[in-house]
Amino acid sequence: MNKQIITELSHEELISALKEMKQPAFRANQIHDWIYKKNAASWDDMTNLSKELRQQCSEKWLFNSIQMAKSVKSDDGTEKLLLKLHDGEFIEMVIIPADTRITFCLSTQVGCPVGCLFCASGRNGLVRNLAMHEIIGEFQAGCAVIGRIPDNIVFMGIGEGLLNYENLMKAVERLTEEKYFAMGVRRITISTSGFVPGMLKLADYGKELNLAISLHAPNDEIRQKIIPGKIRYPISEIMEAADIYREKCNRMVTLEYTLLKDINDSAACAKALSRIAREHHTKINLIPYNDTGSEFKRPSTKTINTFEQILRNADVAVSVRRERGSDQAGACGQLRAEHMN
Ligand code: SF4
Repeated sequence: MNKQIITELSHEELISALKEMKQPAFRANQIHDWIYKKNAASWDDMTNLSKELRQQCSEKWLFNSIQMAKSVKSDDGTEKLLLKLHDGEFIEMVIIPADTRITFCLSTQVGCPVGCLFCASGRNGLVRNLAMHEIIGEFQAGCAVIGRIPDNIVFMGIGEGLLNYENLMKAVERLTEEKYFAMGVRRITISTSGFVPGMLKLADYGKELNLAISLHAPNDEIRQKIIPGKIRYPISEIMEAADIYREKCNRMVTLEYTLLKDINDSAACAKALSRIAREHHTKINLIPYNDTGSEFKRPSTKTINTFEQILRNADVAVSVRRERGSDQAGACGQLRAEHMN
C-alpha cells in the first residue's frame, strides 16, 4: 500500500496538507466533517468539494484501506461483515442491534496469539496487529451499513486488544475525542483474556472505559485446559489488576464466562466464581458456548439456569448473553475461519 489513509492524519495534519495543496483551511474542515461528522463512505460522498479536489485527494490518500468481502445477516438482525485488508488478510466485525440501539463488535488483530481452545479466531495464531486506521476502517465499514455511528462499541472481535495496545488506544482516541467521532468513553468496552501488563497500562490511562475480562474458569487448573498457551496469567494476578482498574478508572469490571459442558459448568465452579465476583466487586456475563466446531459442547439449558441461579443466590450481578447471529456463523472468527478453509 503506497498511499496514506486519510484517517491516519490528525485534523492539524490535514489542515497543513491542504495548505500545501494551496487550498484554504475551510476545505480541510469540510473534509474533516465528512469523515468524522457526516459519515462519508468515500471521497465521492463529499459533494461540497469540487470534482478536481476530490480527484486530487483520492490520488494522494486512500479513504479506507478495507473492503467488504462478504456480509451475512442473521434472522435476529445481527450482521457480520467479513472485511478484506490491503495485504489480502481478513478480519470480521459484527453489527448487533438491540431495540433501538446498535453495538459494533470490532477486531483488533488479524488472528490471535492467545489460543483459547473454544475460539475459531485463535486457531491459527496471530498474523499481525491491526493499524489504527484499520480499526477505524472497520468501524467506518459498519457505519456505512447502518448509516450512522453505533451507540456502543465492544472490542471483543478477533484478537487480544491489549497486545495491540498502542494502536487500539489511538483508535479509541479517534472514536472518543470531540473533534473526531465524539463517542462517549463509557460506551466503549475493551475485552481482554487477562493480559495483566495491558490491564495495568489501561488502568494508568485512567479513562472510564468498560473493561471485560474473559475469565472462563474459577481456578487456574480449569483455565489452563481452556487456554493452554503461554499468554495466560494466574487468576490471582488478573483479579489484582482488575481491582486496580476499578479503583483508578471508577468502573465496575465484567467477567466473561463461556459455559462449556463438563468443563466449567458445575455447581462447584459457580460457587467459586461467585466468591471471586463478590471479593472483587465484578459483574458476570455468562456466555453459553456457541458451537465453533471445537472439542467443546454447550451445557444443557437446565445446567445454564442452575449456574446462573447459584450466582444470583450469592448476590452477584449476572447476565446471560443471548445467542446472537448463531444461525449465520455467529461465533467470533467463524466467518474468517470458513473463508480461510
Ligand atoms: S477468545 Fe479472544 S483471546 Fe481467546 S483466542 Fe479468541 S480472540 Fe483470542
